[in-house]
Amino acid sequence: SFDKTSHGTESFIMNSTADHSDANKKQPILKVAVPIPLFGSFDYLIPESLRHQRFTPGCRVEVPFGRRTAIGVILGQTGHSDLAVNKLKAINALIDTEAVLDSRILDLLGWASSYYLHPIGEVVQTALPSLLRQGKAAEASAIKAWKTTDGTSADDLETLNRAAKQKHILQILLNHPEGLGEAYLNDNHPNWRNAMKALLEKGLAVCTERASLPEAHPVSTQAPSLNEEQQQAIAAIGRDLNQHHIHLLHGVTGSGKTEVYLALSERVIASGKQVLVLVPEISLTPQLTERFEQRMGCPIAVLHSGLNDQQRLSAWVAASSGHARLIIGTRSAIFTPLPDLGLILVDEEHDGSYKQQEGFRYNARDLALVRSQKENIPVVLGSATPSLESLHNVNRQRFQIHTLKKRARTQSITKIKLLDMCSQPIKEGLSAALLDKVDEHLKLGNQVILFLNRRGFSPLLMCHSCGWMTRCKRCDANMTYHKHKQQLHCHHCGAESRSPTSCGDCGSEELLAIGTGTERIEEFLSERFPDTHINRIDRNTARRKDALEDKLQQTHAGCASILVGTQMLAKGHDFPNVTLVGVLDTDQALYSADFRAAEHLAQLIIQVSGRAGRAEKPGEVLIQTHHPDHPLLQTLLHQGYEKFAESALIERQQAGFPPHKHLVLLRCGAIHKDLGMLFMREARELANSYQASEVEIFGPWPAPMEKRAGRFRTQTMLQSNDRKALHQLLRQWLPRLQQLKSSKQVRWSIDVDPYDTF
Ligand code: ADP
Ligand code: ZN
Ligand code: ZN
Repeated sequence: SFDKTSHGTESFIMNSTADHSDANKKQPILKVAVPIPLFGSFDYLIPESLRHQRFTPGCRVEVPFGRRTAIGVILGQTGHSDLAVNKLKAINALIDTEAVLDSRILDLLGWASSYYLHPIGEVVQTALPSLLRQGKAAEASAIKAWKTTDGTSADDLETLNRAAKQKHILQILLNHPEGLGEAYLNDNHPNWRNAMKALLEKGLAVCTERASLPEAHPVSTQAPSLNEEQQQAIAAIGRDLNQHHIHLLHGVTGSGKTEVYLALSERVIASGKQVLVLVPEISLTPQLTERFEQRMGCPIAVLHSGLNDQQRLSAWVAASSGHARLIIGTRSAIFTPLPDLGLILVDEEHDGSYKQQEGFRYNARDLALVRSQKENIPVVLGSATPSLESLHNVNRQRFQIHTLKKRARTQSITKIKLLDMCSQPIKEGLSAALLDKVDEHLKLGNQVILFLNRRGFSPLLMCHSCGWMTRCKRCDANMTYHKHKQQLHCHHCGAESRSPTSCGDCGSEELLAIGTGTERIEEFLSERFPDTHINRIDRNTARRKDALEDKLQQTHAGCASILVGTQMLAKGHDFPNVTLVGVLDTDQALYSADFRAAEHLAQLIIQVSGRAGRAEKPGEVLIQTHHPDHPLLQTLLHQGYEKFAESALIERQQAGFPPHKHLVLLRCGAIHKDLGMLFMREARELANSYQASEVEIFGPWPAPMEKRAGRFRTQTMLQSNDRKALHQLLRQWLPRLQQLKSSKQVRWSIDVDPYDTF
């Protein structure tokens, strides 16, 4: 089956004009995107009773589907159907009178559906807030406000001399002609309701409702005077804001990229247009949102996963109605309808979270390029460590690069040094040399970040008598030991269990925690530095958004002296008092099977380095490794990120990996290994049969982690220089794959431009 549920063979109904029989004439037929994992749109009739309505593309309809009803989106109208008219069902209802998705978004969604080979119904869903998927009205929630009626004045207070409470409330309303909300009244004037009710009855006050749309923030901070590099970038990008251009803003952390975003946004908004800012993860970049709010003086809508459904709908309505002029959002915000879109900014464009890794596997960064082309507007990709794809496009002169080399506020340069771990005494993953350094920086009253991309206490428990290990039953992986919770977690399938007190094989009670995770380091450090405040930041400690914010506040306030954390720490935050960053484990990434591992490691090292020494204190970065001579590390440290990227691009070329060649991965997971292999072999044979000489086909082979969540995983890889040829093959291949009997017994998916090959 494709991803989730099983496919029928009749399912591949692509928009077709095949049937010309008389019976099909004149009946208007709606093409509807229905949210199910089947390809193509579905044809529906319009019942007599609704014929007078207008069926604009982008309006939602309720339709019968199988034995249930579904909410779909009209894609278009036609006079023909592949199916006989008497086989077609009629829609139940038209939900919208005006399109919720405008034609430009429908166009983008259609493009994405065919590029990523994902069913249009599910693609269209991605663009809708969940309340709209459920068929709710496309309106922002209303908030109530109370104010005085026209003509009410201070004179009326005299009439209330015998009702002190009413008089008091009326006085307050007179002081606030703009009206007061429930929240304010509750907080400041408990028991206001009865008095208000009386005022309403006397006609002195009214209750109004207005949509809870974001309001313009008063501008509260001024722009610094921009330096030469910033001015040049702004001038170059600003030279032509009325056409499609792709810009790459490459600036070291702290070089003032955000100031460039702000200046460009101001211009675009002043010219009457909207700006869309994409960020990888909002909870990790609250500072960015705040800066836009403090500086832009226009209504800003923020779209992120921390909102409840109602808030999300309100923000979406604010954006798509044109009320909000600047929209900040994560991945899926790329699909927000924006009537006046004039500029797209993609911050931290190299970040992997722009790629959705399941279901509809799109890349929001890449779709930003497509959207900007379709809408004929500029797009700016920003990063301190641009992706190899983007640098490749600069080399091919598809992107225009603008470089900010200097930090805006400090001249200090962070020194990056390698710490050779070979034959060094090591305690819990920390070399003696690094510990001495930590000591040194703490004594100066500074903060230290230790970075390790592994959560938990230790990656496994092992029996000291017989070697038994805490394996996950459903994955080819060990279960991570979380000591504080006394639990084992599988970080691959999410399985959890209580941690054992004895060996599962021989019963021995001597279990060893092997290896080091952030929790263990935290424990070790609190023994080693008992008077120092230690803060751990990872998905376990910062699950709730406010927990993360609390921790960051503490850190900014300077109370925490050592921060231990995973890659969450490398993103977006400034830690002005941090003067030492230690990267604990690099060796794994140096020898990983993932073709992007080297790129990620280099980005991580540069990004964490950027967190240190941002204020007046110079920073120092120490990288622990057993391979200090590794060419990747040598190039990165001695020649910088650009040179590293150059040599990494050459390696990619030699290996035939993106961006030089395009990849498509057919993935399959099966309860029984043989079923997976059978499907994959048949799939491969089909692919071979098209004799597309420009496309190389590799596999099937087992995935690097063969078993995950109880399924055996195999993959087949398609590789080509020629994107057209690749897509041509895919378009023939996919419908045939669905028809394979063997496809019904496995879960499979197609990943166009996969982020990794796991
Ligand atoms: P980036 O986005 O590249 O990390 P920011 O725009 O956040 O950099 O700038 C880093 C810090 O320097 C911020 O505190 C910002 O206010 C400040 N800054 C940026 N540009 C200037 C400038 N031209 N003059 C003074 N301070 C600046
Ligand atoms: Zn597992
Ligand atoms: Zn044992």
